[in-house]
Amino acid sequence: MEFDWLAPAGNSEQPLELSIGPDLSGPIRLLPERTAAQIAAGEVIARPASVVKELVENALDAGAQHIRVDIQDGGLGLIRVNDDGIGIEARDLWLACQRHATSKLPHDDLRRVRTLGFRGEALPSIAAVADLTLTSATDDHGIGRRLTLRQGRTVVDEPAPRGQGTTVTVQRLFERLPARLAAAARTQTENAQIGQLLRRLAVAATSVRLALYIEERLALQTSGSGDLTTAMIEVYGEAIASSMIPLESREIAGAHIGGVVSGPEVNRPGRAQVVMIVNGRAVQPRGLQASIESAYRGLLPRGRHPLATLVIETAPDLVDINIHPAKLDVRLREERALGTALGEALRDALGRRPLPLREPLEFGRALVDPISALHEEPDVWDAPERPIITPYLPPLTLIGQVHNRLLLLEGERGLYLLDQHRAHERIIYERLRRNRAAHGEEHHALPEPLLIELRPALAHRFARRLDEFAALGFQCEEFGGRTYLLRAAPILPGVFHSLDGSSNGSTDTIGEADEVVSTMLSLIGEDDGEAEDWQERLLVQLSCRTALRRGRALNRPTMRALVEALGQTATPAVCPHGSPLLMHLSEATLERQFDW
Ligand code: ADP
Ligand code: MG
Repeated sequence: MEFDWLAPAGNSEQPLELSIGPDLSGPIRLLPERTAAQIAAGEVIARPASVVKELVENALDAGAQHIRVDIQDGGLGLIRVNDDGIGIEARDLWLACQRHATSKLPHDDLRRVRTLGFRGEALPSIAAVADLTLTSATDDHGIGRRLTLRQGRTVVDEPAPRGQGTTVTVQRLFERLPARLAAAARTQTENAQIGQLLRRLAVAATSVRLALYIEERLALQTSGSGDLTTAMIEVYGEAIASSMIPLESREIAGAHIGGVVSGPEVNRPGRAQVVMIVNGRAVQPRGLQASIESAYRGLLPRGRHPLATLVIETAPDLVDINIHPAKLDVRLREERALGTALGEALRDALGRRPLPLREPLEFGRALVDPISALHEEPDVWDAPERPIITPYLPPLTLIGQVHNRLLLLEGERGLYLLDQHRAHERIIYERLRRNRAAHGEEHHALPEPLLIELRPALAHRFARRLDEFAALGFQCEEFGGRTYLLRAAPILPGVFHSLDGSSNGSTDTIGEADEVVSTMLSLIGEDDGEAEDWQERLLVQLSCRTALRRGRALNRPTMRALVEALGQTATPAVCPHGSPLLMHLSEATLERQFDW
């Protein structure tokens, strides 16, 4: 909490009674009403943007279809919010400005709140720190009522021309609170804050037409299309349009999750444009932030954040909305489950598309070089290659291998570079996951069982995990004492089975089958933590360590099989750690770089 507004107010009628200083003695007493109101206002109304937030939320709660916001002098001169909502009855205008007066809790039950407001605090808090005028009508007969409060006292209360809806005007904000005034002095900063706030509200209320005018110039406008992608483009600009990826919506823990995010090529230094909308409320739940960030890990440079609007709809009683004075955060029951689901939804969405090459082009040298570095013999250039057609990748024609670690491919929309290790990792990982879903049914007997000898410290831990290994398709059999036999393993393409599904064996051995047992053992040795975490780590580790290594030369059938298998996975653009595995050098980039 800040205390700047406790400084003696220069031009108020009487200085505030509270002081922070050496003289702390004195009897305990109740604060005068006005002082108490100013203190309470400090929590809700910290700066001009807080006023705008409360007023626009009130307009949204009133069912407005059009909302216009006008700002002057960073909000200190004027904040005016005009809406076409249900309006306020003339006789209720004064009451609306009193503390704890609200029309939004008919059952006095905070667990059933469906509105953005619920405390009845905003208008009185604003009235405590500014001049406040409400003009409102509940029908379209042309006459409404106007009420002006100055220092909390009514100075105007009269009929006024007005169609249905409400206009709230706030002037002389913080004028009686010099410290707060000084803190809010930079018009630019306040305007930026207000702009940011309006963007958040706009993506939360996509079917409302919102307009923001700063010094009478249009700064932001949405069409009220009801479509989230459209709203994001209206709010963040046309340039992001081609990067927006809608999430496939999913149900989890009684909630519905969806949203639209940017591909990693669109990113910003702060988190301001990572917006979470929980039951229509734009918030920033800290607990979910980590899930979002981890989904982008490895895709974004350090300290950069995507554009994202994530939408969670859930029963009102699963959300505690009353934990933050300015209602900027909520507490979600089932936050963990939601975070996991959100992370998965994001990873799926991001994995589905190849990563466009980041500027500036760092591949200049590699691209001059690859022809000499190509692993293939020259005669491949004579035979036309068949394009590789897969469900999740565009048709790609294999050119060859570069530096024994990248595959170079050509598609209709440019060149593609594929990290061979990560591609294989992704293939194995998806296969393990599929196996787990099928309870390990897709396994096959190893030609030679593998002997597993356990140190005494690990023996009983290993025994405890046998079922979990079996669920992935690893069948271990006790062989007496601390020795086990691994008799069957999941069908892992390129590790325990050919990459292309045939069993001719030509591409059987690119993976590192020997790593399976040591990976199991090292995971057994780790602190076991939560079962789900442990399994996920096992999957990631197994895929990483058994996957084909960089530095290994591949023949053409193997390269093709690798691309084919990758294109069967639903997330072919990132590896299980979230690092990029496929880069796209677009036609447009080539044109720009070569200046064609
Ligand atoms: P809350 O929103 O928590 O109820 P406020 O102080 O923001 O508290 O508003 C008090 C009451 O004034 C609201 O409950 C509502 O009935 C009325 N009100 C405020 N703004 C509007 C508006 N723009 N349109 C209709 N009614 C409004
Ligand atoms: Mg309100």
